[in-house]
Amino acid sequence: MDRNFFDTIIDFEKQLESTQLQFRALKEFVAIMVEEREALQQENNHLRQRLDEIHEKEAMIEKLRDEKLHKLDVGEGHDNLARLYQEGYHVCHVHFGSSRKEEDCLFCLSFLNKQNI
Ligand SMILES: [Zn+2]
Repeated sequence: MDRNFFDTIIDFEKQLESTQLQFRALKEFVAIMVEEREALQQENNHLRQRLDEIHEKEAMIEKLRDEKLHKLDVGEGHDNLARLYQEGYHVCHVHFGSSRKEEDCLFCLSFLNKQNI
């Protein structure tokens, strides 16, 4: 066999082996990348879920705060009207602001009762 031809065959074999090694390294790299990508996706989903939960809680807290403030407003308004009535003035729509002259007013009383929920 031609010596030169034999060397060429050997070189080609070495090249193939080297290419195979590179290919194997590439395959491992891709496997690692796929794993990392899955881990990142899971973490991303988890974080998004947590964020949704936090937003839900924030919305709930805000809603409760609004409701509480609203109740305080109504409560305070009622107290002011009741005080005004105690001081002898009408708080009903019929005679609002005028003096009761010591008499109880059914309109005022029913209005105050309705407010006092
Ligand atoms: Zn009245």
